[in-house]
Amino acid sequence: MLRNHFETEHNLFRDAFRSFLDREVVPHQEEWEEAGVVDRNVWRKAGEMGFLLPWAEEEYGGTALKDFRYEQIMCEELAAINEPGFMIPLHSALCGPYIAEYGNAEQKARWLPGIIRGESILAVAMTEPSAGSDLAGMRTTAVDKGDHFVLNGSKVFISNGLLADLVIVAAKTDPSNKHAMGLFVVERGMEGFERGRNLKKLGMKSQDTAELFFNNVKVPKENLLGDAKGGFFYLMNMLAQERLTNACGAVAGAEAALNATIDYVKERKAFDRPVAHFQNTRFKLAEMRTQIDVAQVFTDRCVMDHNQKKLTAEVAAEAKLFTTELLCKVVDEGVQLHGGWGYMWEYPICKMYANARIQRIFAGTSEIMKEIISRGMKL
Ligand SMILES: Cc1cc2nc3c(=O)[nH]c(=O)nc-3n(C[C@H](O)[C@H](O)[C@H](O)COP(=O)(O)OP(=O)(O)OC[C@H]3O[C@@H](n4cnc5c(N)ncnc54)[C@H](O)[C@@H]3O)c2cc1C
Repeated sequence: MLRNHFETEHNLFRDAFRSFLDREVVPHQEEWEEAGVVDRNVWRKAGEMGFLLPWAEEEYGGTALKDFRYEQIMCEELAAINEPGFMIPLHSALCGPYIAEYGNAEQKARWLPGIIRGESILAVAMTEPSAGSDLAGMRTTAVDKGDHFVLNGSKVFISNGLLADLVIVAAKTDPSNKHAMGLFVVERGMEGFERGRNLKKLGMKSQDTAELFFNNVKVPKENLLGDAKGGFFYLMNMLAQERLTNACGAVAGAEAALNATIDYVKERKAFDRPVAHFQNTRFKLAEMRTQIDVAQVFTDRCVMDHNQKKLTAEVAAEAKLFTTELLCKVVDEGVQLHGGWGYMWEYPICKMYANARIQRIFAGTSEIMKEIISRGMKL
């Protein structure tokens, strides 16, 4: 289905981003996969090209492109080349906005220019070994000591965990109120801030996903974002945008998996005919085509609603739920239609399958999405 969602300037931006990926990312994907982390230089190069936080104000080095379609294009193009490690959406559309939205003028002036240039890579640390979905169950604490807070605890599964220079850490600030938490910017090199191993994962091999430890880390008050007890609300507020990026990437990932499968079944022969000619194959592909088109229209509409600040948490949850479940279905059918070759790492569909699985879990599991949606139904 033809999309009527983008204007000329978006198409030009897409061309520029795609050629950047072809030049600076695609040739390195295997090497990054082996290393378990992307080369930090690619962040700088993306910064030089203006691809990081394009929405940020010009005074910080941004281009003030306040249109989520630009973020959507980057999510789509990264999904199209199946690059899970170079998480521009995490840096630009999730972490950066915490600083722009809840940071004060001094913090923005101090951090945003380096973030936009790709010199300071960002991460956000909410999840703990014993608390993921239930954020209020986290145990990391930040105790007010006058001019600084003392942070103690640990986080797990943190994307960009090894590369990050600035980590936005959620920590409890009031033992009598489980929802009272602050967001603290912990900087590389702060005493007591340690990183664990790069965790071995099913997929997303080029992404450094790590444990982080905070042992009596002294975080100056100047590194607290907003109110020391408002962090839970800030997190909830920003998760809708994060879920929209998941949806944008998931639909594009499904499209890429469908295309890889179509190419394969046209070539592969069984019983003297292309696999594409079996009715089962055609029906499966037709179902995928239909569902991806429907998901795309819905996601595009969510992006436009978000541009007008009308996207609700419930609808963002619907978008994440539907598109990530669809992605996983498409990659699974794609592997099936590839037969044994679909299980081989050298085939793109295999990596797509491995990379997709987490989409139904991170940024809120599918079950949590259903909780959010059903809460809005006032049952
Ligand atoms: C590769 C990767 C990258 C990640 N990146 C980050 C990151 O950068 N920063 C970060 O903070 N976190 C990150 N995470 C963590 C991720 O967001 C959590 O894993 C996720 O939110 C689920 O939490 P959990 O793993 O503790 O599972 P749990 O919360 O223990 O859930 C276990 C199961 O119980 C279900 N469940 C839980 N509560 C309910 C309920 N109320 N109703 C019904 N079912 C329920 C869940 O849906 C799930 O099926 C990442 C995780 C991975 C694997």
